[in-house]
Amino acid sequence: MARRLTSGALVVASHNAGKVAEIGALIAPLGLEVLGAASLGLAEPDETGNDFIANAELKARAAAGAMSLPALADDSGLCVAALAGAPGILSARWAGEGRGFGLAMDRVHDEMTETGNPDTGARFVCALALCWPDGQCQTVQGEVLGRITWPPRGGNGFGYDPMFIARGESLTFGEMDAAAKHAISHRADAFAKLVARCLGPA
Ligand code: IMP
Repeated sequence: MARRLTSGALVVASHNAGKVAEIGALIAPLGLEVLGAASLGLAEPDETGNDFIANAELKARAAAGAMSLPALADDSGLCVAALAGAPGILSARWAGEGRGFGLAMDRVHDEMTETGNPDTGARFVCALALCWPDGQCQTVQGEVLGRITWPPRGGNGFGYDPMFIARGESLTFGEMDAAAKHAISHRADAFAKLVARCLGPA
């Protein structure tokens, strides 16, 4: 049976305050104490992995080792079928260093148009890794399937939300309210899998 974290403190190995808050809200009902990496002064390791799982694991492993506490990290992104899965693990940097998601969405649209491939299929992916200070890790991956729409619609959410419509929906993630998005998101899917496998009371 998989090792389980049922009580005590858990470091959320992210410097993104929004992510720490979102993950904290998901973890709160489990009775664990959440500590944010930025407030602990933890360094952010380079994301040198080849996939979402590898990047989530290297972030969680580094935080668990540095803090001598269990640590949770995520890595997520948008994978577009016509672009062979790009921007994928490069989603956060797709527009170029320090440039906004308006430009990142333009690039996705431009590159899709250049391929001439009419396939608009896409998915958001979220990997989560829970690592213990002794180096043991559990990893899961969640996803939400959908398609790319153009032009982008809606001012809610973040990142690529305005150009993504989940399967069976008509609104983009940018048009949905937060609760509706979170009910079906890749992050919610990954969390459900992590809780089922190794996080919180069995
Ligand atoms: P990470 O911090 O390396 O996991 O970066 C994830 C990147 O993927 C974000 O900066 C966004 O560009 C994109 N992304 C991940 N999840 C979402 C989402 O729920 N909506 C929109 N964009 C997302």
